[in-house]
Amino acid sequence: MENLIAHCKGGRACSGCREHTCPLHDVDEPKPGEECGVFGMYDLDGNNVAPSIYYGLFALQHRGQESCGIAVSRTDGPPRNVNTCKGMGLVNEVFQSESLEKMQGDIGVGHVRYSTAGASTEANTQPLVLNYVKGILMLAHNGNLVNAVDLREELERTGAIFQTTIDSEVIAYLIARERLTAGKVEVAVKNAMERIKGAYSLVLASPRKLIGARDPYGFRPLCIGKRDNTYILASETCALDAVGASFVRDVEPGEIVTITADGIASDKSMASAKPARCIFEYIYFARPDSYFDGVCVHSSRITAGRILAQAHPVEADIVVGVPESGSAAAVGYSMESGIPYGTAFVKNSYVGRTFIKPKQSARESSVMIKLNVLREVVRGKRVVMVDDSIVRGTTSPRTVKMLKDAGATEVHVRISSPPFKYPCYFGTDIPSSDQLIAYDHSVEEIAEILGADSLGYLDINRLGELIDGDTGYCHACFSGEYPVDPPKQDIRGDYER
Ligand code: SF4
Repeated sequence: MENLIAHCKGGRACSGCREHTCPLHDVDEPKPGEECGVFGMYDLDGNNVAPSIYYGLFALQHRGQESCGIAVSRTDGPPRNVNTCKGMGLVNEVFQSESLEKMQGDIGVGHVRYSTAGASTEANTQPLVLNYVKGILMLAHNGNLVNAVDLREELERTGAIFQTTIDSEVIAYLIARERLTAGKVEVAVKNAMERIKGAYSLVLASPRKLIGARDPYGFRPLCIGKRDNTYILASETCALDAVGASFVRDVEPGEIVTITADGIASDKSMASAKPARCIFEYIYFARPDSYFDGVCVHSSRITAGRILAQAHPVEADIVVGVPESGSAAAVGYSMESGIPYGTAFVKNSYVGRTFIKPKQSARESSVMIKLNVLREVVRGKRVVMVDDSIVRGTTSPRTVKMLKDAGATEVHVRISSPPFKYPCYFGTDIPSSDQLIAYDHSVEEIAEILGADSLGYLDINRLGELIDGDTGYCHACFSGEYPVDPPKQDIRGDYER
């Protein structure tokens, strides 16, 4: 399965198996990486929020496994007093119960990171904490700017000194500068938003305000939750569930919400006429139990499977999903086609953190270490194998071969996304076209490379059905139609300036 393609280079986490130390990192195959997860909390009764932020980040771990951090402060405490804990690794590695107990604050933000711009280093971990003339500002960012390089150079020419190589610091710097003349921090955020272009969902905490902002296109999600007298901002609703909070509503594309003791204030003056929410959040990135903009991620994956069954029917005995995100689409295919659903793959959940791949292991496939096939399920059967995407196309042939080696008489591959043909500049690392198999191969050619008896992708014209109609979504990695002009310089991946 493409999800198993290793991505570990220079210590980067594997986005496929979602392990920080990936056993497959000698497999030279990028897979779309998630972006980051953000979480913010403000307890108006003054209780400590650090433990709940920890649990919120835990629920968002799938959005980034390289590094994480929490910054909290007391709204009634001494000015500029911020407790921060950040580090490389997973949430349960970076935070210990002792370090969490030391973190006292009734307002704070948290972040889990997967680097899509800026190196994976300790210096680039978030949240960023700014200590400037107007006080403190804690910031967590999900997304990528397309004009970060230009803005950074402009700021450097006027005396800015950056501590990190991430575009999030450009945003923080702009907000701090704007705050010098703006009467309120939320106005400074808005002024900064007028300068930055691209994808960003931001969570900020100033001394007595929790602020959420979503770029005008709404590429990345952000929602508001509430638990008793505590307000929460989170990338996904699954993080609200994890802390026992109720979903209030999504932050709308282009909206700035300011949460204070007076409640939620909203500014929608930056909204775009045509939002461009990332459709791949629904297909792959997000957790299936999350809801974005009123749509259940799991349901959209079921719908994708149904569409595949309508558009690419085949005579078969069983439908199987490649775990995890292919499974729901496989259920949808089964429901629509009437072909029984089965579990063919067993996933080894433990290899990621403990396995060291010996050098002489040519006969052991990395895919086989991570996945195994239940022979009894597929032997002598015509199998429909549903997966979420194909990137380079080097892992899927192994998965198909595993099924055939286990006795499947036919393997028909169905993919619950359209073919990837173009890179993404909005907070994922879908690579350049020359690394994408579908850019210069026909569907028939790809089927042959996979060793599949047939191959069918989701029709790009039916993507809107995944989110109940065309409410404005981005499909640039499939169509090449970018809602925002791509950057002049590609800053995705590791870079140092
Ligand atoms: S280009 Fe693709 S992955 Fe990137 S934001 Fe658009 S739909 Fe999402």
